[in-house]
Amino acid sequence: MFNYEYMGLPGSPPGNNGNNSSSTVEIKCQAGNRKQTRVSKVKVLLTANPVVVQARPTEAPGNMMCPFCKTKVMTITEYKLGMLTWLIAGGLFIFGIWPCCLIPFFVGACKDVQHSCPQCNNVLHVYRRM
Ligand SMILES: [Zn+2]
Repeated sequence: MFNYEYMGLPGSPPGNNGNNSSSTVEIKCQAGNRKQTRVSKVKVLLTANPVVVQARPTEAPGNMMCPFCKTKVMTITEYKLGMLTWLIAGGLFIFGIWPCCLIPFFVGACKDVQHSCPQCNNVLHVYRRM
């Protein structure tokens, strides 16, 4: 059992100017039973320009920034046949459940979800279940 305690981020050391500045972070490592405290210094690379990753909606319609019309829209979802659909259908087919092997093609939970923009109808994102 180890408890790692984050000691805070000190300012970048002097004489280090640039986009990527490395600074030292102290991490206090404490053993659970024994009262031993070990302080280890870890070099952390700080990036000046973090890349903003857009949160992609999964199954339900979500807010996305449309790259085509540059507006924030609530996506329209549409179920599309995906890998999981065929796998379930194939599995039912192999195990001899003939009438049921078409069920996945009608059940939305077995399909991929395609998100499209309500204004320009462009496909923004496809949520794949596999
Ligand atoms: Zn759009």
